Amino acid sequence: MNNETTYKSIFGTFTRPVENDNKPKTCKACGKAIVFLPTSKGKYIPVNLESYGGESEFYPGVHVAHFSDCPQAKEFRKVKK
Ligand SMILES: [Zn+2]
Repeated sequence: MNNETTYKSIFGTFTRPVENDNKPKTCKACGKAIVFLPTSKGKYIPVNLESYGGESEFYPGVHVAHFSDCPQAKEFRKVKK
């Protein structure tokens, strides 16, 4: 989906997270604190640190995927159309 394309464009410069590496990182686009969590499909996605409570997996409805509210992602989407 579009979200994924945007995510790759903006976050593609991150080094691939090591398994069990849940250390907070910083979004290189907007500077917000994020954490990478694996989805049930095994893909890592950036999650807002404020929605993260120590879980080892991404839970929709619990965690907020950072690409859904990264201000830079929104700008990027507007520009691209
Ligand atoms: Zn961001």
